[in-house]
Formats: sequence, C-alpha cells, structure tokens
Amino acid sequence: RHAASDRLTAGLNPQQREAVEYRGPALLIVAGAGSGKTRVLTHRIASLIDGREAWPSQILAITFTNKAAAEMRERVEALLGEAAGGMWISTFHSACVRILRREAEAIGLSSTFTIYDSADQRTILKRIIKELDADTLGFTPASAQAKISKLKNELSDVESYARNVNTSDPNDVMFLEIFRQYTRRLRDASALDFDDLISETVYLFRAFPKVAALYQRRFRHILVDEYQDTNHAQYALIRELTRPVEPDVVAELDAHGVLVRGLTDASGAIPGASLTVVGDSDQSIYAFRGADIRNIVEFERDFPGAKVVLLEQNYRSTQNILSAANAVISNNFDRKDKKLWTADGDGDKITGYTGYSAHDEAQFVADEIEALHRAGVAYRDIAVFYRTNAQTRALEEIFVRSALPYRVVGGTKFYERAEIKDAMAYLIAVANPLDELALRRILNTPKRGIGPATETSIASFAEQNDLSFRQAMRAADGLGLGPKITKAILDLATLLDAAAAMLVPSQKGIDEGTNEGASKVSDVLAFLIEGSKLVETLRTSRDPQDETRAENVEELVAQTKDFDRENPGASLVDFLTQVSLVAAADELDDASGTVSLMTLHTAKGLEYHAVFLTGIEEGLLPHQMSASEPGGPAEERRLFYVGITRARKRLYLSLAMSRAQFGEVSVAMPSRYLQEIPDELIDWKQSPGMANSRGGNQPRALNARRGFGGGAGGGGAWGTRDRDLERFSVTKSAAPKTEWANRVTGTVRDNGDLTLEAGDRIRHTDFGEGTVRQVTGEGTKRIAHVAFDSAGQKKLLIKIAPIEKL
Ligand code: ATP
Ligand code: MG
Repeated sequence: RHAASDRLTAGLNPQQREAVEYRGPALLIVAGAGSGKTRVLTHRIASLIDGREAWPSQILAITFTNKAAAEMRERVEALLGEAAGGMWISTFHSACVRILRREAEAIGLSSTFTIYDSADQRTILKRIIKELDADTLGFTPASAQAKISKLKNELSDVESYARNVNTSDPNDVMFLEIFRQYTRRLRDASALDFDDLISETVYLFRAFPKVAALYQRRFRHILVDEYQDTNHAQYALIRELTRPVEPDVVAELDAHGVLVRGLTDASGAIPGASLTVVGDSDQSIYAFRGADIRNIVEFERDFPGAKVVLLEQNYRSTQNILSAANAVISNNFDRKDKKLWTADGDGDKITGYTGYSAHDEAQFVADEIEALHRAGVAYRDIAVFYRTNAQTRALEEIFVRSALPYRVVGGTKFYERAEIKDAMAYLIAVANPLDELALRRILNTPKRGIGPATETSIASFAEQNDLSFRQAMRAADGLGLGPKITKAILDLATLLDAAAAMLVPSQKGIDEGTNEGASKVSDVLAFLIEGSKLVETLRTSRDPQDETRAENVEELVAQTKDFDRENPGASLVDFLTQVSLVAAADELDDASGTVSLMTLHTAKGLEYHAVFLTGIEEGLLPHQMSASEPGGPAEERRLFYVGITRARKRLYLSLAMSRAQFGEVSVAMPSRYLQEIPDELIDWKQSPGMANSRGGNQPRALNARRGFGGGAGGGGAWGTRDRDLERFSVTKSAAPKTEWANRVTGTVRDNGDLTLEAGDRIRHTDFGEGTVRQVTGEGTKRIAHVAFDSAGQKKLLIKIAPIEKL
C-alpha cells in the first residue's frame, strides 16, 4: 500500500502530500489560486481507492461544473490506471437530482419530476402576478424570482416565510401570496426549480432519517471543491450527509438487508463520513446568489478538530501575473493576507491596451491572438474573458472578419430557442403527465385552432374537478367545445399517451429493473414530431425564419440520437435531466482547437496559456449594478482576481475609451482596479489612433484619472447583471438502477401480494381506471397488463405500481 501511495504523492510538495495523506473526520485546504487544490482532491480520491481504504462507490466529490467533474473523473482514473465506476463526481445539483429521482415518492413527488429553468419560472410567475394584479405593487417576474431564490437558498419555505411576514406591509403580504401560489403550482406539476433541487434534498433527509441514513452510510468520503461558493442550503446538505447513523437506525437498515457490517463503531453507530473541503475566500464570486464565505471561514467551528492545510506555492502562473493578482486582492479588507508565489520566474510583463472603441479593442485582441498563434500557441490554449455577455458582440464581429476560430462558452442558448422549448415540452409532457406548463405550451403548437379561451376552460375544468390538466384534456368531450376543437384536444392527448406507452420497458426490462425494451429517446421524439406535425408545419410555413427553426428541431433529434448512442439503456428522464442541467462550462471542448470566449464567472477553476481580460472599465468591472451595493466592489475585485489567475504565461488587460450599447455611446473610464497593479508589471500599448497622445507608461485615460477615488462611469448604458450564470450539471453515466433496489420500507410503495387476475378493475394514480387483461410473471415480479379506460395499454409491476383494486 505504501509503495502505491508513493506513486500517488510523487510530484506533490510537502503540504500537498500532507493533505493527500491526512486521515481524519474533517480536512480544510485553504489556498490561493493555482496552488493545486483541485489536484490535491484528485490525488486524495485516487489514494483512498488505491490504498483500498474506500470503494469508488463510497466517494462523493462535488465540483462546480459538469466539465470539472468529468475532468476530475478522468484524472482519478488516469492515476489509478483503471476505470473507477460507482464514484459520484458531480455538481451539487446533479447529485441532488440523482437522490431525488430515487427518493421522490417519500416527499410526494413523481420520480419523473420536471426541472424548471429560469424561463419556466418566469412564465409561471408572470401568470401569478397577472392573476393577483401584483404588478400594481411593483412586482415583476424577475424580482419575485430573485426573492424566491434567495429564500430557498436560505432554506426558507412558504410556511417559515409566512411566520415572519409583516402583515401590515402590503408588499410582504402580496409576496407571500405569490410565493404560496408559485410553490403550489410547481408541486401540482410535479416540478422543481434549481434551488429546490438542493433544498428539497435537505428536507428529504431531515424528514426521513432512514432515507438519509442510506446516503450517510454509503458515502464515507465527501470532498467539495470551490467550497467558498457554497450557499446555506448546500452547506446544510453537506451537514446532513456527514451525520453519523445512530445505532437504532443502523439496526433497522440491517434488518432490511442493507449492508452495515464493517461500518459500525463500538457503539453500533456508523460514524459520519470524512469531509474534505478546499477553497479560497479570495475567489468567492457568487455572493449575489447566496454563496456564503462564512462557510469556509467558520469551517473549524462547524467541524471541531478539523485539520487545516495551507498551500502556498503556485504552479500555474508566472511571478509577474501573481504579483499583479496579489496587488489587486490585497485591497480587499477582511481577508487573511496570503501571497501567491512561484518558483518559475517572472515571465513576460502583462500587456495593457487602451482602444478607442470596443471594436478597436477587439481588433487588438484578434491581432494578438494571431501573433500568439504564429508563435506556436494553440488556439485552444487562449481565452478571452468579459464581465457581461453583451460584450461578445464586438469581439465576435472582429473574430468572424479575421477568420479566427472561436467559441462562445455558455453562449449558444440552443435550448432556450422557442422551437426547441416546444419540442422539449412534448417530451416533458410525456415523461411527466402532471406538467401543466409543458402541456399548455404545446396545446396549440403547432396551431390546432385551440385558443386561449379553450385553454382557460380546460384549466378551470381541471381545477373544479380536481383533475390534472392532462386528465381534463382527456375529458374534453364533456367540455361543450366545438367538435373540431374537441377532436384536436383528444388527438393531442392520444398522441402523448401513445408516446408514453413507448417508454414502458419489456417484461425482461421490468424483471431486471432496466430500461430494456423501452423505445429510444430519439424514436419517441421522432414519433412526437411526426404525430404533431411540428417540423412539417415549420417547413411549409411562409415565414423564412421557420426553415431555420425546422433545422434546429432536427438538430435536437440528432442530439437525442447521440444521447441514445452514448448512453445505452438511459431513459427519457435521464435525457431531460441532462438537458436541464447542462452547465455553461460543459460546452467547453478542449480538443476543438478554438479560442474560448466566456464570462469571468464561467472561468472559475480553468487555466489557459494566454488570457485576455477585456472591458476593464468602470461600470463593467466593477459592474455598475454592484458598484453601489455593500460588498459589491470587493466581490467584483475577487472576480478580477479570478480572471488574472487563470493565465499561465501571458496576461492581457484591455479596455475601450468608448462603448456603444443599446444604441448609446458612452465614455468609459478605466477600472479602479487597474490602478492597483504596480506600473512596472504592465507594458501599456495604445491604439494607433491614440499613439500621439501617449505619455509615460500609462494610457491616457488612466493618467487623466490617476488618483480618482472611484465613482461610476458609463452612465446607464451598461447591460443588466449577467443572467447567464446557470452552471448546473449532471454526470453522464446514470448509476445502475438496481444498486439501490434494496431500500428501506417507507420510501417505496409495496402492494405485497395483491392478487389480480384478468377482468379485475383497478385504479392507477396517474392513468386512472382500467381493466386487467392478463397477469404474467411470478412472485414479486408479477406484471399486470392493463387496458386503461383512457390511458391506453400499460404493463405494471404489481408489487410497486401505484394501483388499487376496485
Ligand atoms: P484554482 O484556485 O484556480 O481552482 P487550484 O488551487 O485548484 O486553482 P490546480 O488547478 O489544482 O489549482 O493546479 C494549478 C496548476 O498547477 C495545474 O496545472 C496543476 O496541474 C499544477 N500543479 C499543482 N500542483 C503541482 C505540483 N506539485 N507540481 C506540478 N504542477 C502542479
Ligand atoms: Mg481548482
């Protein structure tokens, strides 16, 4: 074992080695950027597995993006020299989705629950605000969404909010009603928003200690990267996962056949998992999303006896880059002073550039990239960062003109296109029959002559009869609508039911708990597109844009084919989950040989040979929305620090003297942060158009502003806060479904030995009433073949199906 560990710690410095080898309940690794934190986590996992101290399945590693997760898995496997299946390496959100899909029933949720994105949330909030006339009080979907998100990140739900609400404040009372309605609608639709994924998992664990115990028992080593950006809900989740399992619960697990032998201590309890977290408070950039730097600062208090390891040496960047980073971040108060250093030498100076316009700045970036490329730097080893997505316009224009291969990371928005959302809504409606939002989206898409009045009458019929929207659609003939409209509604319901039937696994699949025999996602999608005439309608439309839309939908079909090929045996829900959780950074493709363009937020944890930080101007960095907020400028400074420390060898800082946005041109001022970098570290260049005004070693604007004490420039022309920071992700390989089959009672329905035979009438929670046609299989694997009155033919595993005999 020791020979093996030596191999895993070779090439690490003494502090890194100590962090890899330490064994104890809690370990905190704090260090600046590029000091090998992520590398230590990777080696630590490999060393645990290699030393046979843990099975891969006992490891849960949390990373910030899907991309980081995939990279970590690859590196661990490279170190071990073999695949290590069963490890959970994923983001908080994807780990929670996996847990919730398995345990959904315990909290009254369907395991096929839909995950609502920001746009879905706003659609629902818009409806609620309209119904409540809440806009008269100034509520907007975005403001309500932000407030709800903040509450959920603090683990506040409707009830706890209601207890503290100020009933004399009409705004608070109205917000409570919005929050209540919003919560009810998501619940009715069996849907969760992103914040729910974390908070519902915490509630699940708190309410069902036996369910929690399964995961507490399973994960013996929990490792969290980028701990400085965890919010309260994520912190609570970690606390739940690292709790010991008490002896009485252990006994119950044992009684239910869950393996506990070898895991218990003298008292009969299973000790809490060992926790390793790594982070850098200087890189905390998600406070606006509820990230709480105190999680890292107070780690030692929360986990008494925790070992703390400090890493100091930087292995990523040149000393000039590090000195600039040190100089900038030292202006933040309230931090432990730590200085990044490297043994690798000063390297080149930083290049500064002042352009006269955003286009001029972009041209400089493009020219420098070409020069780097000629000097042998690969395009994929070059990145351009900016504060807001709007800044890509000028960059892209120039890059296209210069025929420079580039890629906007997180900027494709493919899944946000209306036609893609339409096609996805068909799939969602099939996977989750309760999802009213999806049904209403496709009700008249493509056009079937079903207007808003009909939509409303279906909705109110559902409301009055306590039916789901889908059930109400099936009952359309009772609505007193015209024959053509009635037929259109029934046809759509039938189409969806038929697609749902394609998803039922074969007898063998059901027996083995796999998805075998179920149609592939691509086939289901093709069936829906064909049956709904979605593409056909676009193809025959006179709107020239519709041709592109048709192509986009076909691109989606191609993507589902790729998914089917890469994930044999995966289900439709797996596909929907993956799409919901696509992280911005997942779209990175290192092999692609293109320059990467991305926001500073997306850049976290990454590194490139050459990095361009653009738009280093007041109003952009710090962003004008943050400049006046408490803590805003400090957080923006950390963002700048994150950007600087991504560079290995070459760093470029650029700005434009004027910037046009939304049709207005505004005069820009250099960012206050530029002054914090010592002059001797930067070599300033200027636009040829400004060359004659060059004085000293500083750009004109900076000279003019030398000594200014801040103050926002840029006026009101800058874009709003970046809305595209969603970065949730899921690892591709779904865990084998059988693995957790052995579950504690209470989380799984069990019909015991319910005897059914042909001719019996039954009622199913989702499919309604039906007649049993045939029963096959034996014992716990008996299958009822049921003809439902309106839901078509289904095969049900009698033991667990939500059915009752009538
Ligand atoms: P960040 O704060 O940006 O996330 P980090 O602390 O996680 O940075 P890593 O990404 O783990 O740092 O490491 C930075 C770079 O230094 C990587 O390229 C890594 O491979 C390299 N590195 C780390 N430790 C060593 C070492 N002991 N010897 C050689 N290279 C190292
Ligand atoms: Mg890292």
